[in-house]
Amino acid sequence: MSSARKKGRLYRSLQSMSVIPLLVLALIITIFSYYAVRKAMHTEVHIELQNTADSVIMIYDLLYPGDYHLEGGDSSDLFKGTQLLTSDYSIIDRLKSDTQTEITIFYQDTRILTTICTSEGVRITGTEANTLVTQEVLLSGQPHFYTNTEIHNQQYFAYYTPLRNSNGSIVGMVYAGKPCTEVDAAVRRAVLPIILIAICSMIVVSLIVSSYTHKLTNALQKIRSFLSEVSTGNLWEELDPDVLQRSDELSDMGYSALHMQRSLRNLVEQDTLTELNNRRFADKHLKQTQANANACGSNFVVAIGDIDLFKSVNDTYGHDCGDVVLKRVAVVLKNHMAGKGFVARWGGEEFLFLYDSMGLNDAYTETEALLREIRKMEIDYEKQTIHITMTFGLAEGGRDTNIRELLQKADTKLYEGKEGGRNRIVM
Ligand code: GH3
Ligand code: MG
Ligand code: MG
Repeated sequence: MSSARKKGRLYRSLQSMSVIPLLVLALIITIFSYYAVRKAMHTEVHIELQNTADSVIMIYDLLYPGDYHLEGGDSSDLFKGTQLLTSDYSIIDRLKSDTQTEITIFYQDTRILTTICTSEGVRITGTEANTLVTQEVLLSGQPHFYTNTEIHNQQYFAYYTPLRNSNGSIVGMVYAGKPCTEVDAAVRRAVLPIILIAICSMIVVSLIVSSYTHKLTNALQKIRSFLSEVSTGNLWEELDPDVLQRSDELSDMGYSALHMQRSLRNLVEQDTLTELNNRRFADKHLKQTQANANACGSNFVVAIGDIDLFKSVNDTYGHDCGDVVLKRVAVVLKNHMAGKGFVARWGGEEFLFLYDSMGLNDAYTETEALLREIRKMEIDYEKQTIHITMTFGLAEGGRDTNIRELLQKADTKLYEGKEGGRNRIVM
């Protein structure tokens, strides 16, 4: 329970450490793109409205030469030269349908001709331009672009330009405008693909990060549970090969954990001088062999071998020489027993042998061959050549044998061999 919680916490931390910056990045990209596109769109709308307003002035100048002026009883009929413009919406309606732009012609600050209608379809004429526009365009004589002009409760992008007569005097204004909702919708349409791409990239990267994080925490979890097994004394636990195949810091960690396990195993189960199995491991192995024999009814032979007159080696050549002899003997024993049985250092110059699934006679033959090898050994130490012999006591075990009694029996046989003159095998 606690291990799952620990893994989850690390997993979540790694996840959030990588996904949160991504989210922030996606957000920044989206906001930045929105404002960049919006700015570009405003510039485009500005130019478009300016062109439309200029076109209106140019078309009227071309079609109807002369100046703008009011005539009539109530002075509400707008003329250009001799042409009455009032109530003839054909030109501005045509331009509106071509450019999708609302158009208004002001005489002074009053709307005379317009394409803007109320929801009932009535053109909004006779109303006045707001004071800011009057101030900034009509009175100062400068064209102006607005991003939020309200006309009949609707927000417009608007371009106003002064309307002049041939002598340069300002007689009114021309307005070209687009509803803000239309422009904003266009901005949203332009930004949408960018947002979608940002979201998709974030999802893809998040999935990659998530899968990598999962593999990482999984490998860590395997190493952790391996170390936990080792710490409770399970020195035979195996580490998942997937961890070792990663070839990164985690596989290095895995190898270190394996080396640690091996070193601990050696410390616990190996004799440091001869590097043979030690007595503790031999005891374990004997129990296992007995258990197998109990289960299968197979026989096995235990032998105890002891180096003859070893004390005199120490006394004659020194304790260091005795160590060298023990090591050399251990190598011969190990090589000889490879594939035939088990060998361990049982005590000082005593060794234990175990021939699995074998009878006494075959074990005797094997031990004879081993003794021949021992006799042939030439151990060079400080320009001296040392020869040794060994004595062996053999005893056969099988189903329900008492291990302690079996070892006692082999020991007795060994004693008999020593008594009988050493350098021999007794069974
Ligand atoms: P026997 O033929 O009756 O076995 O005579 P032995 O001299 O071999 O037997 P004894 O028990 O009298 O002497 C064993 C000696 O082995 C005594 C001990 O100092 C020596 N010995 C035990 N372990 C080591 C070791 O690790 N290194 C060295 N150099 N000597 C050891
Ligand atoms: Mg001895
Ligand atoms: Mg001895």
